[in-house]
Amino acid sequence: LRILGIESSCDDTAAAVVDARGQILGEAIRGQQQVHEPSGGIVPIEAVRKHVENMPFVVKEALDRSGLGIADVDAVAVTRGPGISSCLSVGLNAAKTLAAVANKPLIGVHHMEAHALTARLCFPDQIHFPFLSLLISGGHTLLLIVHDVNRYTQLGTTRDDSVGDAFDKVARALQLPWKSGRGGGAGAALEVAARHGDPAHLAYKLKVPMSINHQVSSLDFSFSGLKADVFRRVDQQLVSQYGELTTNSDHPITDGAQPPPVFRYSGKPQPTFDPYRTLSKPLADTPTEEDIPALAAGQLTPQFVFDMAAAFQTTAAQHLVQKIRLGFQHCRSIHGVTPRALVASGGVASNQFIRDRLRCVATEEFDTPLFCPPPHLCTDNGVMIAWAGLERFRSGLVDDYGVQVLPKWPLESLVKWPNFESR
Ligand code: ATP
Ligand code: FE
Repeated sequence: LRILGIESSCDDTAAAVVDARGQILGEAIRGQQQVHEPSGGIVPIEAVRKHVENMPFVVKEALDRSGLGIADVDAVAVTRGPGISSCLSVGLNAAKTLAAVANKPLIGVHHMEAHALTARLCFPDQIHFPFLSLLISGGHTLLLIVHDVNRYTQLGTTRDDSVGDAFDKVARALQLPWKSGRGGGAGAALEVAARHGDPAHLAYKLKVPMSINHQVSSLDFSFSGLKADVFRRVDQQLVSQYGELTTNSDHPITDGAQPPPVFRYSGKPQPTFDPYRTLSKPLADTPTEEDIPALAAGQLTPQFVFDMAAAFQTTAAQHLVQKIRLGFQHCRSIHGVTPRALVASGGVASNQFIRDRLRCVATEEFDTPLFCPPPHLCTDNGVMIAWAGLERFRSGLVDDYGVQVLPKWPLESLVKWPNFESR
């Protein structure tokens, strides 16, 4: 059984062919970071243009690398949603045409289902249903029970920002470099910066989100307060380094998609910096002293950047851990389900510190193993779509050639437990 998967929901055009043993037969991806960099956020019209330009090459590369033609695959899977409508259409149209011409079944895949199921490809025969899934990406923060393919209970979601977005915004407030290797975004730079910092630095102690009484028992997440807290500290730090703010109109710490403007503080002259500077080489998993100048090339003192990064990362991890703990308890007491694994995926799950905290709570408190896909399968890719397509295909779930994109598509609207009777 071999499935071709196509992904174009956001800013990566990706395709892959996988087989039922979880082997990646061929894979290709083209990003568009350079296109969107100047505006600091994804520009849909540019994203579509790039998807249209890249799609045929990406599909051909994935097939060529697998040594297969379209006639040799058993079905074509494609992301139907959620995502940017026009971007999704590029992938869906490519998939429909390929499937129709080659007379293959079409499988519409939910992007987050794909993130949730990828770990089963990475660890064949080790992750059995039901399992607890923590999806921590740029757009989502979800805690789910995965009962089976297509069957999910959403335990919690974020009430405001996603954890990945908070990492990105905090990293930019700390003036960390924007790019740090494949798919890493600013969040990966923050992880490396945090390794040089001291999370116990009392001056930078941050409050764990949702820790007041009536929120403690909720399974939801919240990251905007934590993020705003860091923004405030950064602002205070800048004032302490450079003197009073002379104008607020270009306040540097904004939540918008724009890059931070040049600071206008009175007092000491400030160094200028390029918020989109690129590191000469991708940051290594184990940071070296060499990374320090590149990381802290902004206007804040290196020690502040590192300690604040560490304080933020530690607090974000504590928040995730608290909700995971509740999630395990809920599974058993409310849903009568004993999760057989905890699976963390999405870009933030490539964060080693967060993985370690999650592994600790899962294994030590709930005697359950943690599985995370490798970082390049945590961020968007074609493999996850091909694999989710394969899992759906095996469960007899195929779609009509007439299916449309679903830019907003709640995961629970697949089939919700326990509303399904028969398998
Ligand atoms: P979604 O799947 O919800 O649509 P997305 O696909 O854009 O979102 P991903 O590609 O899964 O998101 O993840 C990107 C996010 O992961 C970014 O916010 C990035 O900062 C964050 N990220 C990547 N590596 C790390 C890391 N090591 N530590 C923290 N955050 C990280
Ligand atoms: Fe994604």
